[in-house]
Amino acid sequence: MRIALIAHDSEKSEMIDFASEYETRLAEHDLIATGTTGGLLNEQTNLEATPMASGPEGGDLMIGAEVATDDCHAVVFFRDPMTAQPHEPDVSALLRICDVKDVPLATNRSSGEALLNGLTAEQA
Ligand code: PGA
Repeated sequence: MRIALIAHDSEKSEMIDFASEYETRLAEHDLIATGTTGGLLNEQTNLEATPMASGPEGGDLMIGAEVATDDCHAVVFFRDPMTAQPHEPDVSALLRICDVKDVPLATNRSSGEALLNGLTAEQA
């Protein structure tokens, strides 16, 4: 499976912590990420994530395009619930295409854990 990992700035340390905790499980999958999140994952974990453009530069849309073409099968997107994002329209577009394509999307750590646990159960 191809899984996208995205974290807004205030959630990036949470994403690194999450990815480290689930490193073995995530390593079984093909990972993509928005630019900054992907760079941090590659530096600070043993995972290899293919970085897209940064979120504000269209990375969310690049991942959304992969969802639209059935190339990306799950998205873990730790969103900042407190701060408006300058690229909010792109964020909304990504959430929408996940709903259109019925692609699992987690927007916080608990749902991210549930998503990864669900994927593994599905594959077993
Ligand atoms: P970033 O993008 O990983 O490049 O910071 C995330 C986002 O803001 O959607």
